[in-house]
Amino acid sequence: GKIHGGNQVYAYNKQMSQTYNELLLLESDIRKAFKRNEFRLAYQPKVDVKSNHIVGVEALIRWEHGKKGNIPPSTFIPIAEEIGMIHAIGEWVLFEACQQFMRWKKAGAESVMIAVNVSAIELQQTDFLDKVKKIIKETKMDPNYLEIEITENSVMHNTIECIHTMKELRKMGISLSIDDFGTGYSSMGYLQKFPINYLKIDQSFIKDLFNEAGSAEIIKAMIQLGHTFGLKVVAEGVEGEKILQFIREEACDYYQGYFYSKPLDPIEIGRKLKKPN
Ligand code: C2E
Ligand code: CA
Ligand code: CA
Ligand code: CA
Repeated sequence: GKIHGGNQVYAYNKQMSQTYNELLLLESDIRKAFKRNEFRLAYQPKVDVKSNHIVGVEALIRWEHGKKGNIPPSTFIPIAEEIGMIHAIGEWVLFEACQQFMRWKKAGAESVMIAVNVSAIELQQTDFLDKVKKIIKETKMDPNYLEIEITENSVMHNTIECIHTMKELRKMGISLSIDDFGTGYSSMGYLQKFPINYLKIDQSFIKDLFNEAGSAEIIKAMIQLGHTFGLKVVAEGVEGEKILQFIREEACDYYQGYFYSKPLDPIEIGRKLKKPN
């Protein structure tokens, strides 16, 4: 049959401009949301595989848009990165997380590690370390309880400077995690070079465990690899008992996932961290 090229192009353009307009709208909405303080943090427990105790929480940004409802970070973080808003948002996230840690502490909760996601662009900014120092000073946060999660890909660019920044963070007492491990197109040489503490196995591998041949072997290998380099290994996206059992047998150290808890608001986490008295 004949291809109606003209119509196709028309439809394509119309769709494109619609997407483009939506993108512009979202851009200005992100700026407004920031000014109006519309972002929130939810916290997902990080749990010890053996004892099933909470060893930490990961801060995850939330945005309840006035008209569009909940917009996931996977939608707006990439845009925030593109328009440069990630610096202000990232600073807010770190400040808010540290402040929340102190609120829990003052309320008598047991102190556990608090992890914050940092974008590659933030990590590469020359004043990133100064910002972190300033926030720690202002909030009186104990940096030994602070963990920064960076994705595998983000540390691959700009390696020398990244290593310097990471080393300085470690000197301050901050811990470092490689997030989404296994999804990057990196060589694994960095495991040796980078001063990291934790590997977080990406949830795609965990999801595939009982569906795709070879996934179990990949997970096993990743756990072993982490341990070989003296790192603690975290499994992400654990949704069921069977998967937990598998990673327990393979001596994975920590896990996160809906099986234990979805991300919760600060009050709910505070309750979970209450010291028994
Ligand atoms: P991530 O850092 O890999 O975070 C894990 C994501 O998996 C979170 O999605 C979490 O809610 C979700 N999750 C946890 N357990 C399960 C489970 O058992 N099943 C399933 N299906 N999902 C689970 P969320 O909160 O939508 O965040 C998505 C991504 O957005 C994060 O991935 C992170 O890359 C980014 N992000 C979130 N908050 C921030 C932030 O404050 N700053 C930056 N730069 N990025 C952030
Ligand atoms: Ca993360
Ligand atoms: Ca992840
Ligand atoms: Ca991710």
